[in-house]
Amino acid sequence: MAELNLNHIYKVYPNGVKAVNDFNMHIDDKEFIVLVGPSGCGKSTTLRMIAGLEDISAGELKIGDEVVNDVEPKDRDVAMVFQNYALYPHMTVYENMAFGLKIRHVSKEEIHERIVEAAKILDIEEYLDRKPKAMSGGQRQRVALGRAILRNPKVFLLDEPLSNLDAKLRTQMRAEISSLHQRLQTTFIYVTHDQVEAMTMGTRIVVMKGGYVQQIDKPKNLYNYPCNKFVAGFIGTPQMNFFECYLSKKDDFINIKFEYTEQEVKVPALYFVKLNPNYLDGKKKVYLGLRSEHISINKKDLEESKTNLKIRLSHKEELGSETLIYGDINMQGEGYKETSTRVIIKTNQDVEFNNGDVIDAAFNFAQCHIFDYETEDSVLPRVPQINYIPAEIKDNHILFLGENIKLPQAINAKDSKGTLIVPIDAVKPGKLIDAKISVVEKVNDKYLLYLHIEDLVLFMLSDTEYKVGSVIKIDIDFKKIEFKSLNETIIEPFKVNNSIPLKFIKQKVLKEVETEKGLKKQKVIDFYLDILGEKILSPEKISRPILSALGTKAFNLDYMATIDAYSFIEDPNGFKAKVEKEIIYDDERFVTVDVLGEKINVRTDNKSNELSLKIDLDKIGITETSIDIKLV
Ligand code: ADP
Repeated sequence: MAELNLNHIYKVYPNGVKAVNDFNMHIDDKEFIVLVGPSGCGKSTTLRMIAGLEDISAGELKIGDEVVNDVEPKDRDVAMVFQNYALYPHMTVYENMAFGLKIRHVSKEEIHERIVEAAKILDIEEYLDRKPKAMSGGQRQRVALGRAILRNPKVFLLDEPLSNLDAKLRTQMRAEISSLHQRLQTTFIYVTHDQVEAMTMGTRIVVMKGGYVQQIDKPKNLYNYPCNKFVAGFIGTPQMNFFECYLSKKDDFINIKFEYTEQEVKVPALYFVKLNPNYLDGKKKVYLGLRSEHISINKKDLEESKTNLKIRLSHKEELGSETLIYGDINMQGEGYKETSTRVIIKTNQDVEFNNGDVIDAAFNFAQCHIFDYETEDSVLPRVPQINYIPAEIKDNHILFLGENIKLPQAINAKDSKGTLIVPIDAVKPGKLIDAKISVVEKVNDKYLLYLHIEDLVLFMLSDTEYKVGSVIKIDIDFKKIEFKSLNETIIEPFKVNNSIPLKFIKQKVLKEVETEKGLKKQKVIDFYLDILGEKILSPEKISRPILSALGTKAFNLDYMATIDAYSFIEDPNGFKAKVEKEIIYDDERFVTVDVLGEKINVRTDNKSNELSLKIDLDKIGITETSIDIKLV
């Protein structure tokens, strides 16, 4: 039983392939985590790094409380099950299972006891005397699982264990592995390219692509709230329908114009309340995604729906309990190829048609997803990250949401009209603005509040639940806001994070070291951070990840340190920093200081024009800049 922590894990193969980039995850004890993605996305490499079969290029892996980067695979207390079972052909099942324990010097009696127990769990008691070749694939995989169970590991690692089995057996083994997880109450990490396996087995799923984690979430959330078009298309069968569209707002409606066809529909603006309004200008192309179960040809749906589209039908696939109907919203389209106008409809009705027939279908746009055409990221996410509020600046006051608020002293903006851009984490309970809560959505362990102010909706994330209909007072953190007038940025967010160049150096020093013959002077190597003209002794927790990722190359590379304004300590022995500017946000005072030409923002109440500062090394982040690896 163990929890795992993967912090900024990277794998760079000697040939330069960056197979895994900045993998971050906390895995709770007893979770069933599935890593899923197309071939080559880095899932096996991640699993093999956890197993210890592959070195970790950078980052820290913890199993339980222990950092295991440099721990041998056999000492990590993990057991791995492979696709090809990896059984010894000349040994019986019993011998195969006993082998791992024998080399660990477990007593004969105990080995026997554990094998009988595991064989019972896996229902292979009657095969213990057989050799692997006299068994089916499913039975062999059970033996491999049995061998893993015997080890009683903290973590089970399974690499595509069912790929060699036929479809029926796969379904059965899927259930068996899930039930095994239930019984063993241990952490499982499972790799597969099959999204059905991932969806049916995982308590949480990690979707990967090209070495990067795309989304980590519960199966249902991945299906309902994919963070980008890749996840939306990868999870779920049949694949989500994707259309190229233009959206424009008129009064309380959004017009959706489909590319490559003349068809258009009008939907209530309410459906897109979470959408970034920049996508509503009618000119910015988006992908609109809609799952096949949200398009209906049911008579009742067609009568009730106000958003029907014409579909030219092509063919169908009977799946027994349901039928997939293929068609196209472009009357010249043919429905066989995946295009931006092809439609797949899932129905449980019997339908007879000829290729080329045109029918109406009811599209439920309340369920649709919108993705940016270039980045393919969802712009209609479950939790909108940004609030866009029409506003006006006049005499250093901001007029928005019916309020007229004096801007903080730090902001000096010219009079203009535009959009106030407020990140969701800048909206907090406070005393400035009255807001009525119209909707409360539970999102994992937080609550997404829809705040009605005037006729606008503002989103806020809250740790506590509120009642729908209640009125609260909120504040806006002006440090985080931006103000744009057309394409001109009038107010920029305050730079809380400073980026400062850094070098990592070593130095031989003579030190008094305790030896058998008493204190003796010896040469030892110390590591330093060369930053802002200072040489600061590098603590082990910074040196170790740098050295383990980069080895001796570490001393010739360039780094960037991220230090936020709150991470400086005033200390008479610190480095001297000339204060150039004072920045005051209501009750918080910052200064910009100059150190060797670097402009750095520091939070302080000290009014003198020179500060003496030290860096809080517990809060520093370090990135290597040429291959772009986060090290600390
Ligand atoms: P997956 O398990 O998702 O199919 P892998 O983790 O096996 O993907 O591989 C991820 C990437 O790393 C791929 O581009 C693969 O070609 C590359 N790769 C895997 N092993 C090595 C290796 N030993 N040397 C160099 N590149 C490798």
